[in-house]
Amino acid sequence: MTQTDTPKLVFDTDWSYAPAPETVPVQIDDRYGLFIDGQFVEPGDGKYFDTINPANRQRLAEVAEAGKADVDKAVKAARKAYDNVWSKMPARDRGKYLYRIARILQERAREFAVIESMDGGKAIRESRDVDIPLAAAHFFYYAGWADKLDYAFPGKVPDSLGVVGQVIPWNFPLLMAAWKIAPALACGNTVVLKPAETTPLTALKLAELIRDAELPPGVVNIVTGAGATGAAIMSHPDVDKVAFTGSTEVGKAILKSIAGTSKKYTMELGGKAANLIFEDAPIDQAVEGIINGIFFNQGHVCCAGSRLFVQESVADIVIRKLQDRMQTLIVGDPLDKNTDIGAINSKPQLEKIEYYLKVGQEEGAKMWQPTCSVPDSGFFCKPTLFLDASQSHRVVQEEIFGPVLAIQTFRTVEEGIAKANNTPYGLSGGVWTDKGSKIFKVTSKIRAGVIWANTYNKFDPGSPFGGYKESGMGREGGLHGLKEYVSLN
Ligand code: NAD
Repeated sequence: MTQTDTPKLVFDTDWSYAPAPETVPVQIDDRYGLFIDGQFVEPGDGKYFDTINPANRQRLAEVAEAGKADVDKAVKAARKAYDNVWSKMPARDRGKYLYRIARILQERAREFAVIESMDGGKAIRESRDVDIPLAAAHFFYYAGWADKLDYAFPGKVPDSLGVVGQVIPWNFPLLMAAWKIAPALACGNTVVLKPAETTPLTALKLAELIRDAELPPGVVNIVTGAGATGAAIMSHPDVDKVAFTGSTEVGKAILKSIAGTSKKYTMELGGKAANLIFEDAPIDQAVEGIINGIFFNQGHVCCAGSRLFVQESVADIVIRKLQDRMQTLIVGDPLDKNTDIGAINSKPQLEKIEYYLKVGQEEGAKMWQPTCSVPDSGFFCKPTLFLDASQSHRVVQEEIFGPVLAIQTFRTVEEGIAKANNTPYGLSGGVWTDKGSKIFKVTSKIRAGVIWANTYNKFDPGSPFGGYKESGMGREGGLHGLKEYVSLN
């Protein structure tokens, strides 16, 4: 090698880590009923469905499918608890219950992390280090607000809303439940929540925890089922507010179903976030951030940085460094502590991602994947780049919700901003540059609810989160999230 040669990374494909599986024992029952009025009950028409481990397709448990009558029972229990107990309880005592839930969750964090990874497919590093600690942090945060609502909204009299119906998706099952339940309860509302049909287990474990925390019966009701169960909750006439997180398509259907009613609503919907890397950016830091932004949680992240715009002068080096880093990613057993990318959540989701991989190539983008191996036991997908993508490509415009990154270039700041804004979504984004003035300019011009600068996917219970355009309305987290669960007089 001469002195002018750049050293090239050499990857030995036979080299691998020894297996390091998470070994905390967990208790998963064979069958779960519906959590209504403080106890687990059988569904009215006796129907159950399986929830499986997407890493090996094995059945984990049988879960109740709630029909309309079950949803009605849950709403009635929530109404009774609201009228007789929760809305009358001193706010300080509501806070104590929330602190209790937070503490028990923290104590049982490992167990919840393992079940989250088994049921949803996400790498244990994420459920252990992100999902569960953040879920506990949300309960702690909103516990603190319960008896301080008068200070949260100075000059106003905050009043609870009543019964809240909440429906959540499968990408952050326990965290989404915490985002929904904690602020609702802190403000004095009671809840009927439905987790996604592919990831019901941590919500059901949370129901057990809530029972163990001796929360008054009916304050939190957790019913399981698919879209029809969700629709029954959202359209129930005795639900005062609906809070939904999921796809834009379903969000629109829910909005239609509640049009003309007095229900309040918040909608946290889809995304197609852009990351912009400028030529003055710290490139290695940016590459790590891009990897974290799209491959974290298999790309099953509403705010995933699924579009990358790189300033033309640094495009070659950024792409090469991205490919080098992707070559080191480990796709495998979600319960292994070395795994970077776990299992895709379900067969239909894997099929959807594979469909888009085909579409992207047919449209003319160049597909690139690392040479890593992928287990054949379940639903797995290699991290994927689409190079030479263009604005009109469907892989650039549509939400894939998988580990797929479409890359384009830009020359000027204005061009970068215009390309980033060319999307029906507006949930999140990222900007990578050494210049503070550029950060202010770009972040103020990108139409998205959350924009990170020189970092990505950072969350805190005190920060609001939510979208512009087709990414939704309303905010979750922080004071903004609290405001969604009160009426201010
Ligand atoms: P989805 O819309 O298919 O399902 C979400 C939930 O809605 C599930 O519990 C499902 O059973 C239920 N549901 C389905 N049809 C329904 C209906 N007609 N009425 C009421 N409920 C119904 O979404 P998904 O595939 O589970 O989740 C992925 C989507 O969620 C992506 O679009 C992602 O961007 C979005 N998401 C958004 C955020 C955010 O904060 N903006 C966070 C996480 C996920």
